[in-house]
Amino acid sequence: MDEIIRIKLGFTNTFLLRVSDEYILIDVGTSKKTKKFLRILDDYNISPDKIKYIVITHAHFDHTGCLAEIQKITGAQVIAHKNAVDLLKQGKNAFVGIKIKRFNSLIRRKLDKPQVYHPVTPDIIVDDTYTFEEYWTDIRVIHTPGHTLCSISAIDKNGNVFVGDSAMGFPIRIVPRLPIIAADFNLLITSWKKIIGEGAKKVYPAHGKPFKIDKIRKKVERKK
Ligand SMILES: [Zn+2]
Ligand SMILES: [Zn+2]
Repeated sequence: MDEIIRIKLGFTNTFLLRVSDEYILIDVGTSKKTKKFLRILDDYNISPDKIKYIVITHAHFDHTGCLAEIQKITGAQVIAHKNAVDLLKQGKNAFVGIKIKRFNSLIRRKLDKPQVYHPVTPDIIVDDTYTFEEYWTDIRVIHTPGHTLCSISAIDKNGNVFVGDSAMGFPIRIVPRLPIIAADFNLLITSWKKIIGEGAKKVYPAHGKPFKIDKIRKKVERKK
């Protein structure tokens, strides 16, 4: 990979990964950010049709908000986990729970709505691992369930890993930590061990700033 460009759309970090003059986009942020996105592409002198793939780290409204529009404008192929397919087709959020159990029904009521973003049919469906051909051979997409059951991460040969909400600084903390919202907290730890095993060095979360893997490694190892 030649370059990583971070673009904040709403309260979500999206990332453009460049190889030569073509791009992979990781997530698309919250809704109504398409114009902002196109403006930023223009600032970087990037033509939208140079974006070849869009990796959706998981089916949550703050990662899929502009997906339908950006897919149409770029003509990019959308990559998602097989557990996300039905959700994306309906514009629905993936199931989650929260550490503070008394807030569970509140958060589910907030997320579990009929249609929260425009439906999209993914083009490439990931099961356990997806590897790119042509340009992108140094990037792998792996299934990293926990935050949601459809969570995937993209990792390159240098150990840069894009994890969506598997770690977060959100809402106000800048210290990286494990999310307090997850479908399965045990699976989340298993997935972190997998990410570390894949040789991750630097973590790019969807909320908060990038950080070195050591910061989360300690938190994961503490959980046996
Ligand atoms: Zn999420
Ligand atoms: Zn999020």
